[in-house]
Parts: sequence; structure tokens; C-alpha cells
Amino acid sequence: MTTLIKIKRSSIKRNPHAFSTETPISLRPEYTFKYEGYNPPKWIYSKDVSIDSHELIGLIEWKLDVITGRIFDRELFERLYKIEIQNREKGKYSGLNLTYTQNSRIFHHMPEPEYLYEYKNTKIKCSECHSLVRVNKIQSDEIDDNLVDVCPICGGINTFDFKYEKISDAIKN
Ligand SMILES: [Zn+2]
Repeated sequence: MTTLIKIKRSSIKRNPHAFSTETPISLRPEYTFKYEGYNPPKWIYSKDVSIDSHELIGLIEWKLDVITGRIFDRELFERLYKIEIQNREKGKYSGLNLTYTQNSRIFHHMPEPEYLYEYKNTKIKCSECHSLVRVNKIQSDEIDDNLVDVCPICGGINTFDFKYEKISDAIKN
């Protein structure tokens, strides 16, 4: 006789993201800078900054520092950004260019189910050794690309006869 693994009625919830195929993931923003000038500011050498490239361009006496890198401290970045904006409004050019990327990505996936639910951890009888085994204790294995159930007591293959209740049936009654 086929055992029906029933859905716990109290566990049924409507999925707030039902049918959605997209989930936005926000990654940490990335703060970068490029400095071009003859007098690199001190903060470039602080522990919250990593230098990705540093080139010296020009003649022997007048070497232009071209430095690119990343800033890991958001507050430092915001402070610099504010100063830079003010500088530009005054027509001052410091040689600093600040950029930031708000890294958010859309993760595409199969449509989300309409309901979220759990199954009752029902006991099922093994046809081989007649043990009663809870459904979550049944092991699975792959044999010739087929997934099979394995009895944890006797090692019997596909010795359990059960099926899962469908959510469409569970919400009807
Ligand atoms: Zn068994």
C-alpha cells in the first residue's frame, strides 16, 4: 500500500515571492579613485586604501604620479567625495577622480513556488526488512544515473512505497 506523505497544514504559507524569477542581490559597493598630479595626498597610503597601479609619467624633473586604487572605508570615500565636489564648484582641480559602483545584480532562477510548506516526517515500512523508517532517514543513491531510495536498516533498494501529497490537493481541504 502506498503511503501518502502529507503536507503539514500549519506549515503552508503563501510565498511572498510567488512566481518570481528574479532576485536582486546587492553586493558591496566598490569605491575607486584615480589620481593624477605631482603631489599625491597622504590618504592614498593609508591602510584603508589599496593601490592598484602607480606610474610616473613625464620628464626627469617633473614626474606626474598616476595612481589608481580602491578605497575600503566608505566614510573616507564620502569625505573625499564631498571635498572634491566643493573643489570643483570653486573651479579647483586636484587631479583626483572618484568613482563608485553600486554592485547589485539580478539573479535569475526558475519561478518561485506559490506556496511554501513542509511535509510530515512520516514513518514508512520497508518491504524488505519490515522496519518502520521515517521519510527523512531514507537514504538516496545514484545507480546508472537513476536516483534510488536506500533503506538505512537493510540497504534494500527502492523498498519503500510512498508518494508526496501535492500542494494543489493540500490547499483544497
Ligand atoms: Zn529495509
